[in-house]
Amino acid sequence: MPTEFEIIARYFTRPARTAVLGIGDDAAIVRVPAELALAITTDLLVEGTHFLADTDAARLGHKALAVNLSDLAAMGADPRWFTLALSLPSDDEAWLAAFARGMFALADRFGVELVGGDTTRGPRTISITAYGTLPPGLALRRDGAAGGEDVWLSGSTGDAALGLAHLQGRVRLPDAAARHCLARLETPLPLVALGRRLRGVASSAIDVSDGLVADLGHVAERSAIAVEIWLGQVPRSKAVAECSDAALARACLLGGGDDYELAFTAPVSRRAAILALAAEIGLPLARIGRTLAGNPAVTVIDEAGTPVPVPRAGFDHFGA
Ligand code: ADP
Ligand code: MG
Repeated sequence: MPTEFEIIARYFTRPARTAVLGIGDDAAIVRVPAELALAITTDLLVEGTHFLADTDAARLGHKALAVNLSDLAAMGADPRWFTLALSLPSDDEAWLAAFARGMFALADRFGVELVGGDTTRGPRTISITAYGTLPPGLALRRDGAAGGEDVWLSGSTGDAALGLAHLQGRVRLPDAAARHCLARLETPLPLVALGRRLRGVASSAIDVSDGLVADLGHVAERSAIAVEIWLGQVPRSKAVAECSDAALARACLLGGGDDYELAFTAPVSRRAAILALAAEIGLPLARIGRTLAGNPAVTVIDEAGTPVPVPRAGFDHFGA
């Protein structure tokens, strides 16, 4: 059975690339360029709460890092380094090898470097802290939206939640839709390029991890504005549009988490620039609503302007 040190050496230690000092000392050392600010984010994934015990280890390695890179993307930061805290019930080397493979494949894709961590025995838990850089003053904060702006969404929402519903037997998706939704649930791609390009363009941004309405609710609260979403303008994937359970599809569209799209606000004057950006990076960006001066709240209206019921609020581990 490998020791903690053998696990670290075998699965997680690679030569330092950009770090001054990587894995192996009491702390890592990195150099942050003097003209840049540092963005820091942490996510904790607990078996049974955030992922199922039988989740594929490589996909879990991917997702554990992806959710952190998505948070950096939603700030407009360039991902640079990360640390990994792992609690594991046993020295399952096949699990460790697959986990590391999935994690490093995504890390390499975005040029982000593992510089340290901690490893211990216990219930399976994964915590990654990611560090990114960005020019000071240009972060895409939740509190930057003003009334009278556009609300935008990348891609489409609902697929990941629909995939989870399929896994849980709450809906039976056709094969192609199931494959698409499960890929979105298990291997989300953080929208790093979009976040970076929205610096100086968007007035606020958030990644959709808890659900479209819930996450825009955080922007409304922090910016002290009202958000109006036009249901007919919210893009639907084929899987959501053709789902046999229309009520479930709508709940996933508006309230499903885990899609890691970016929702953002921008002044009306930025419309042409945002559409040009969408074409340039090959990512659909849809104008799905507007902000208004008023009490912080999110309303969803249909084509007739009638408010539609909003599905359950975002996922809250301490909620009722
Ligand atoms: P310490 O006892 O000083 O906390 P550790 O023995 O826990 O040091 O870790 C030794 C080295 O291995 C440190 O540089 C630490 O950052 C790194 N490390 C430990 N666990 C991991 C991991 N899961 N992934 C990456 N690096 C790790
Ligand atoms: Mg330690």
